[in-house]
Amino acid sequence: MRIYNTLTKSKEEFKPIEEGKVSMYVCGPTVYNYIHIGNARPMIVFDTARRYMLYKGLDVNYVSNFTDVDDKIINKAIEEGVDASVISKRFIDECKKDMEGLNVLPATTHPLATQEIPEMIDMISTLIEKGYAYRAEDGTVYYRTRMKKDYGKLSHKNIDDLEAGHRSINVTGDLKEDPLDFVLWKPKKDGEPYWESPFCDGRPGWHIECSVMSKKYLGDSIDIHAGGEDLIFPHHENEIAQSEAANGVPFANYWMHNGFLNIDNKKMSKSLGNFFTVREIAEKYDLQVLRFFMLSAHYRSPLNFSADLMESAKSGLERIHNTYDNIVYLIENASNKEESTEEAKAFIDSIIKKFEDAMDDDFNTADAISAVFELVRYINQNTDEKTAVNVLELYKEKLLMLCDILGIILEKEEKLLPEDIEKMIEERQEARKNKDFARADEIRDELLNKGIVLEDTREGVKYKWL
Ligand code: AMP
Ligand code: ZN
Repeated sequence: MRIYNTLTKSKEEFKPIEEGKVSMYVCGPTVYNYIHIGNARPMIVFDTARRYMLYKGLDVNYVSNFTDVDDKIINKAIEEGVDASVISKRFIDECKKDMEGLNVLPATTHPLATQEIPEMIDMISTLIEKGYAYRAEDGTVYYRTRMKKDYGKLSHKNIDDLEAGHRSINVTGDLKEDPLDFVLWKPKKDGEPYWESPFCDGRPGWHIECSVMSKKYLGDSIDIHAGGEDLIFPHHENEIAQSEAANGVPFANYWMHNGFLNIDNKKMSKSLGNFFTVREIAEKYDLQVLRFFMLSAHYRSPLNFSADLMESAKSGLERIHNTYDNIVYLIENASNKEESTEEAKAFIDSIIKKFEDAMDDDFNTADAISAVFELVRYINQNTDEKTAVNVLELYKEKLLMLCDILGIILEKEEKLLPEDIEKMIEERQEARKNKDFARADEIRDELLNKGIVLEDTREGVKYKWL
């Protein structure tokens, strides 16, 4: 498996630190609003990378944080007249609902920045002790950027050409030794959440949060660190500086960055106001369509969002669904039980190889999807009422397997509505009246299969969910 590593600007053979195990950290969203579909891109593409590694038998420890203390959260809380934690909790819950809709697996751990403050204070103290950080008069702690000799190695920037990049950091006065220095801890302001620390009452800077959560849940050195390409500089560059200075070992071996989701070739972002939330898209489309749309491009390429492309993702997905539904129908109605699977197997193997080659080549989901379409076309051309059940079952199993790696759900979970259940109960009563006990039993079993048990009571037949 080869992964494009931003650090070396090349595709490298993936070798985990510990054989068979992968430690992966993905920078998560700042939770002050519903996530937009640009934020959904890293969630979907790195979830797919994770699913593929699981398929390859790797044990993936996947950590993705929620940034739950930030100026934008605080401003929103002030606007609504509530505590910042009310805002962050609300949007973490909403984000998790969107992730579920997108079929993004929950992370092994979803740490919250506000729950890890003592560890952040520890790391900042270590950096001060080692001379990599200093406390300014007002209590702000800065990282001494020039101390880190290889600073700029991820973003491939020369330290002398750099201007200090900042995000969510309000510096009061210029107490820095050098304009390149960045904030690790900042003093509290009126009405803002704060924590006590040896430096001053205040809160952490954004970059230190990820360094600490990665260390705590995955260790000092990890296999993969990922996020959108806007995070390369300064966020990830600063994470490297902090973690490597504090821990004395390389931070992450592979750095993966997804390209932007654009609209009219401009990055979709909250600040430009050119965004759609996942919720808005869900009103018009099944979120599986959004997932399929995202995977139709390579994760590192820019992807332009448009109604046309969503429509074509929708019809592509429908083609796969139609084939799958047809196989299920044929299995239920096939008269031929068994025949040689040799030819089908040979073709499926060639498809699996194409799929794996594509995914092994830096998770090329676009080519992996082409392989799935090839399988779909083959199944359409080679199946009819005469196809035997064992061959159909093979197609079904492999199509499900490949789609599952992409996080595409083919099996519809049918949940019976109360009125459907009542109708079936009535039909069963009717069958009993006509002494058609076989049919009555059949209906009872059908309901049981769907998790519903029937009980005969004095008031008639009642049902309950198992
Ligand atoms: P934020 O909440 O802005 O910190 O973003 C959370 C994640 O979404 C980060 O990994 C960002 O890089 C990513 N992201 C934000 N906007 C876009 C976009 N338009 N396209 C792709 N990724 C994005
Ligand atoms: Zn981060």
